[in-house]
Amino acid sequence: MSASPRNRFNGVLYDGQSAGKTSVALGFNAKGLVLQPPQSKPLLWRYSSFRLKQGQSGKPPFHIEYPVGQSVEHPMATLMVEHPGFLAPWGNLHPKSLPWSMRPGNSTIQKVLLWGGLICIPFLLLFLWRFAIPAIADRVAMKVPETWEDHLGTEFYKAINFKEYETVDLERQKAIDTIVRRLLKAAPGQPYRIRVHMVKWNIVNAFALPGGTLVVFQGLLDKTETPEELAGVLAHEIQHVLLRHSTRNIIHHYSTSMLLSMVVGDSTQMMEAILTLANSMEGLRHTRTMEAEADKEGMTMMVAAGIDPKGMISIFERLSEEHSQIFRDEGDDSEASETEKKALGWLDFFSDHPGWTDRLDSLHAIADKSTVPPKPLLENFDWTRMHNTDR
Ligand SMILES: [Zn+2]
Repeated sequence: MSASPRNRFNGVLYDGQSAGKTSVALGFNAKGLVLQPPQSKPLLWRYSSFRLKQGQSGKPPFHIEYPVGQSVEHPMATLMVEHPGFLAPWGNLHPKSLPWSMRPGNSTIQKVLLWGGLICIPFLLLFLWRFAIPAIADRVAMKVPETWEDHLGTEFYKAINFKEYETVDLERQKAIDTIVRRLLKAAPGQPYRIRVHMVKWNIVNAFALPGGTLVVFQGLLDKTETPEELAGVLAHEIQHVLLRHSTRNIIHHYSTSMLLSMVVGDSTQMMEAILTLANSMEGLRHTRTMEAEADKEGMTMMVAAGIDPKGMISIFERLSEEHSQIFRDEGDDSEASETEKKALGWLDFFSDHPGWTDRLDSLHAIADKSTVPPKPLLENFDWTRMHNTDR
């Protein structure tokens, strides 16, 4: 058995009827609290009658109230005790007359619950971030209307601010549109309006925004040797649109940000910093599963559209050898680099991204199975026109 707690205290008694106060010696017994004023008889406050004043935290000074007299105002005598150990014998002898949290042992339970809760929160957040949010985001993304995606993609494209870097060349645009039309024959009834923008930069890359806005950089066009090769790239990008990959990424990304803002409170500056970082970095990049999906469906689309699948394989082989060239070689005006930073999160092909061998293998597997003889594509178009001539 543990030693019984101290049971001798001093307090100050306000009798509730006069302005005076009296120092009293105190001790608990089986019936209640015994108050011993100097030079007078001891008083007994029964457990059923006195109570800790409401709103007390369990820390001294303790205020105990006890009804006195018979008048309608129900005057209360108040006892004030400074000693921190005052509740211990009280709790031992008559726990029921103490508030729940101040009964012996209960404060420990409270602490365990509190700390347990605190420890669980990061795991809960991790679970939300890792599993729940992606699952919910995917479901939402598959349900949003195409017009919403189209609007979102258009707004993002405006925000990236590529307009002034676009190549304006009707012949090229017509050739690209012809390729897109051929590819889309293999996806009858698909709801998107696919638009391809050529951007003059020397980046060997392309990307797809939600709703059908595609961007192909001059650096990539320069790498293509045939219309079938560009068709391979476009088939892959179109599949990112049809499979709603970018929409899923955006919703996933922003719901994570929303979760973060809930956790850190609505601290606008921090949110902006996180969003800027995520936008310019990898927040919106497709996952490897998405890439494999776009490859597979893109190649199937090529075959179904009667476009020589070898085109997709040869351009992907060339892209896989390409050293990751994220920014342009020449020029460094600050406005352009701002635009570059915004575009960075979207770029699709990175040669240092592992997995090219697997990707090429699966492309070969689909192409080898094809029995459809390919039909010519853009026979009368001089493909060198696609290459950089400083237009
Ligand atoms: Zn991709």
